[in-house]
Amino acid sequence: MAERFAAPIYGVIDYLLTWARKFSIWPVHFVTGCCSPEFMQVSGSRFDMERLGVLPFASVRQCDCLMVVGVISRKMGERVKYLYEQMGEPKFVVSVGACPTGRGPFYDSYATVAIDDLVPVDVYIPGCPPRPEAIIHGLMLLQEKIRRECGFRAGKE
Ligand code: SF4
Repeated sequence: MAERFAAPIYGVIDYLLTWARKFSIWPVHFVTGCCSPEFMQVSGSRFDMERLGVLPFASVRQCDCLMVVGVISRKMGERVKYLYEQMGEPKFVVSVGACPTGRGPFYDSYATVAIDDLVPVDVYIPGCPPRPEAIIHGLMLLQEKIRRECGFRAGKE
């Protein structure tokens, strides 16, 4: 009898938790390259990523999303790993632009590294630089991934 009532209650709690997580992504920005002006646009009033619940935050320990924007050098790669390890679970990584995804125009340099050699990546946003619409689309893909993969019922849909 108790099980009959418990299942729907777990479903509702699960829905609410996942909904809250989906619409309260707090990204820490790791911006090293010329993609940054496009990224600033996303915070401005025209594209306004806060309408999706995405609120940039200064403290990495309170953030759940690492947005890597721009080229990553080997030396800088250690810092990326360090930042990632300081974040609590669950945490997500978004690669913004061609440089972190595949080393971009610096693909043949000895000094650059792709982000997925350092930390697991959830969403890749293509472009050099990606347009603000592409960044918004990438954030919406991350929300969809959170809806599918977080919560008690993850993978059961
Ligand atoms: S992807 Fe292109 S625009 Fe972005 S940091 Fe690399 S070179 Fe610059």
